[in-house]
Amino acid sequence: MRPSRFTCSVGCGGAWPLTEVIYRCSRCGGLLEVAHDLASLGQVSAREWKARFAERSARARLPEGSGIWGKREWVMPHLEDGDIVSLGEGWNPLLPLPGMAQRLGLSRLELKQCGVSPTGSFKDLGMTVLVSQVRWMRRQGVPLRAVACASTGDTSAALAAYAAAAGIPSVVFLPQGRISPAQLVQPLANGSLVLSLDTDFDGCMRLVREVTADAGLYLANSMNPLRLEGQKILAVELCQQWDWEVPDWVVIPGGNLGNASALGMGFELLLRLGLIDRRPRIAVAQAERANPLARAYRGGTWEKHAVVAGETLASAIQIGDPVSWPRAVRVLQAFNGVVDDASEAELSDAAAEADREGAFACPHTGVALAVTARLARSGVMGGGSRVVVISTAHGLKFPAFKAGYHATGGAPWANPPQLLPADAGAIKAVLDQRLAAA
Ligand SMILES: *Cc1c(COP(=O)(O)O)cnc(C)c1O
Repeated sequence: MRPSRFTCSVGCGGAWPLTEVIYRCSRCGGLLEVAHDLASLGQVSAREWKARFAERSARARLPEGSGIWGKREWVMPHLEDGDIVSLGEGWNPLLPLPGMAQRLGLSRLELKQCGVSPTGSFKDLGMTVLVSQVRWMRRQGVPLRAVACASTGDTSAALAAYAAAAGIPSVVFLPQGRISPAQLVQPLANGSLVLSLDTDFDGCMRLVREVTADAGLYLANSMNPLRLEGQKILAVELCQQWDWEVPDWVVIPGGNLGNASALGMGFELLLRLGLIDRRPRIAVAQAERANPLARAYRGGTWEKHAVVAGETLASAIQIGDPVSWPRAVRVLQAFNGVVDDASEAELSDAAAEADREGAFACPHTGVALAVTARLARSGVMGGGSRVVVISTAHGLKFPAFKAGYHATGGAPWANPPQLLPADAGAIKAVLDQRLAAA
């Protein structure tokens, strides 16, 4: 098997070993990708891959009990058990939303609950790979002092936890006052050096790139294609959970657009190795206040015009200058993709509506659900479609968002608490009134 390596994603022919500290093509400046020995992976039949993955899905012991490392040949084939830093990520459940599906005229609507995970977001899927690879690089003698990232709250939480588990120092660049208190406390608890900066995410991203240009600090943002190698497994796991059938649509919220890109990469790999025979359509969902991709799409061009991201409840996708833009555009073109956005009211209502069927949806999941509703109502998503919405973080990371919605009382799905004296008679009266309909 030929070792996996970095190659230029633009296709200019550049290639580097995975021990190289490099984030962009040194010839043309393009983003990088990890190229595996596909010819060798293709020598295993689709049937055999499915049998292998099924067998490992029954294992509890890490690393192969992890949703990512159960598919290790497709992720980082050279890593051995001792290199792998796993917290038991992946195997995120699918939650059916039959009520919402019926209201939207869809035959199947499911939430892929990626926030049900070690640090509460789907960033764990990619971070286990990056940090494992860093541990391996350090063993190979690459002089890396620490790992670093800019973050809207979830990347930093994931990096801090995996780095702590690996015993590697981490530094996180955060936009002051723009992430939730729960997200801020995660890297503090895991012992990261937390830099709270007086700028927005795009500003943090510029700074971390400047600082990590001087090697020794390894960049852990999704611009680094090692992250995408784990994130792409989301598509593989989803198809496995669907008994190797493919949904008609997959809807994913988009900020920096690394995950939308990785989703496409995962489906492409499944096609190439013969485990599935068609592509789903992909919809990228943005918040109306941070929607450069939705604007470009509506304008009929894929050209990037960065915007200054406005404040949105969907703070993890409050990004105006997405780094993985060209990668995501390639995926959207290949998957007959669409892009749409959602207002603050729409995202809040959609999250609350899903909660009524057992979810506890974060605002970004609300964005994806609201865009699903828009696409279903406008007919872009045909009646009877089978749809999977990627739920990207756990709602418990955003308690103020949840509390705010239910405190107001006026919103369609608001459920404020009933204030009562400590009196059984008063309670019975309310029960009679409120439970009568049921
Ligand atoms: C990171 C993140 C996203 C967006 O992913 P990108 O790869 O930046 O597009 C969406 N939702 C949540 C909760 C996130 O943490």
